[in-house]
Amino acid sequence: MFRIGNGWDRHRFEADRKFILGGVHFPESKQGLAGHSDADALCHAITDALLGAAALGDIGQHFPDTDPKYKGANSIKLLQQAWNLVAAQGFTLANVDATVICEHPRIAPRVNEIRQSLAEALGLAIDQVSVKATRGEGVGPEGRGECLTAQAVVLLEKT
Ligand code: MG
Repeated sequence: MFRIGNGWDRHRFEADRKFILGGVHFPESKQGLAGHSDADALCHAITDALLGAAALGDIGQHFPDTDPKYKGANSIKLLQQAWNLVAAQGFTLANVDATVICEHPRIAPRVNEIRQSLAEALGLAIDQVSVKATRGEGVGPEGRGECLTAQAVVLLEKT
C-alpha cells in the first residue's frame, strides 16, 4: 500500500533571528524566520507531509505553538519525532521532494547540505531526499522578500 502526503508552510522574515532551513544554519543571513519554534519552514512542511500521508493530523496538533515547551524548538527534532509516529504505524518512507521559495539568502549553493541534514533526521539515503530552491521573481510576498514558503511531498509504503 502506498500513501502520499503533501505539506506547505510559510514564515515571515524578521531581523535578528537565526536563519535555519532543513536544520542547516545560514550564518551570513542578517534575518531569520519568525515563529514560536526555530521557524524552520522546510522541516515544518515535510513534517506536515509525513503526518498527512499517514492521516495523523498536522504539526499544530502534535507540537502546538501555544505550548512553551516548543519555544525555540529545534524543528529537525520535531520532524524526527513526527517520523517516529508515522514509522510506528508500519510505514517506510520512499522519498521526500520539497521546494523552497525565497528571495534571500541564496539556498541553492547549500541544497546538498540541507538534503544530508534531512536524510540523517529521517534515516534515509541522500538520493531519497530532493530539495529544490526557487525565487519569487519580484512578485508576491516571497518575491518582495517578506517571507519564505516551503512545499513538500512524501511517499510512504506499507508492505
Ligand atoms: Mg511553520
